[in-house]
Amino acid sequence: MNSTLSKKILAWYDNSKRNLPWRVSKKSPKKLYYRLLSEFMLQQTQVKTVIPYFNKFIIKYETLESFSKMNESQILKLWEGLGYYRRAKNLLASAKLLVKEYNSQLPNNLKEIKKLPGVGDYTGNALLAFIHNFPTIAVDGNVKRVFARYLNKKESKINFEKLIHINKKNLFITNRNSDFVEALMEFGALICKPKDPKCGQCCLNKSCRYLKSPNKIEINKRKKVKVMNYNIFCYVSKKKQIALTTTNEVKFLKNFNLPLIKEMKNNSVDKDWKFLKNYKNSISNLSLNINLYYKFSNKIPKSFNWYSLNNNKEFIPSFTKRIFNQVSILF
Ligand code: SF4
Repeated sequence: MNSTLSKKILAWYDNSKRNLPWRVSKKSPKKLYYRLLSEFMLQQTQVKTVIPYFNKFIIKYETLESFSKMNESQILKLWEGLGYYRRAKNLLASAKLLVKEYNSQLPNNLKEIKKLPGVGDYTGNALLAFIHNFPTIAVDGNVKRVFARYLNKKESKINFEKLIHINKKNLFITNRNSDFVEALMEFGALICKPKDPKCGQCCLNKSCRYLKSPNKIEINKRKKVKVMNYNIFCYVSKKKQIALTTTNEVKFLKNFNLPLIKEMKNNSVDKDWKFLKNYKNSISNLSLNINLYYKFSNKIPKSFNWYSLNNNKEFIPSFTKRIFNQVSILF
C-alpha cells in the first residue's frame, strides 16, 4: 500500500464526512464521554438508530462523572429499545471504572484499556486513536472490506494486524491518526459499501485492484439467520399482571426479565396452558418462531415476580414488551 491511500481517504473525509453528534472538537472535555458512549451504542447498531439515543443520554447526563453515577436499572431504562442490553451494563461499569480508577482519563495503552468491561481490540483501538491520536486502526467490518477490495484479496486470507504493521509508515503519514481511523470507517460505510460500492465516485478507483481485476473477490456475506422455535408460557393474573423471571435458559436474553420460555422440542404442551398465538421475532441473527401460551393463576414459581402489563417505569426488554402487548388482548 502506498501513502496516497491515506492522503486520499483523509481528503475525501474532509469534504464528505457526516455531521455526527459524537464528533466533537479534539480539545473538548467531553470527548472521552461522547466517544465511549457512541462506541458502545454503535456496536451492531446503525448510526441513524443510535443518534436519538445518544442525544437523549447526553442531555440527561452531561458528563462522564454524572453518567457514572447512574445505577443499572436507570441505564437499562434509558437504553430500552436499543437492544443488546449487555452493552449498557458494560458501558456503565466501564464509566465507573474510568472515573474511580483513572481519574476520568483513558489509559494510554491497549492492555490497560481492555480492562474496561466490554472493551476488546476493536473498541480499544478506536478509543486509543480518538482520544490519544494513537497511530492504530480499529478494524471493523467496514475497514476489512475496504482493504480486502483495495487489494482484491479475501478477508479470510488477510492478517489485518500484520498488514497494518507492515504498512505503518505509509498509512500513518500525517499526524491525523484519529481522523484517519474515522475516515476509513466512514469510507467503508458510505463509498466502499458491502453491496454496490460507489466505484465511480471513489478516490481510490485508479489504484483499486478489485475494480481492475476480472476475478473479483467475493465479499463476506452477512451471518446466516438461524431459525429457533420456542414455547413461551405466561402466568397471568386477573389484576392485569404477568409473571417474569431472570432465571431463564435462553442465551439471547440471559438474566433479563422473561416469562417461562422453552425450546419447542415436541408438540406436547400441558393442557393447563392455553394457546394464545404464534408470531415471529428477530434478535440479532436469530429468527424466533414463537408459540405463546397463557394461564390465569395466583400461584407462580419461586423465582418469578409479578409485573403490571402497563409497566412503563421499570426496564423491560423489547422482546418482553412485545409479549406484554400480546397478552394484553386477554383483558
Ligand atoms: S474503487 Fe470501488 S471497490 Fe475499490 S475501494 Fe473504491 S469503492 Fe471500493
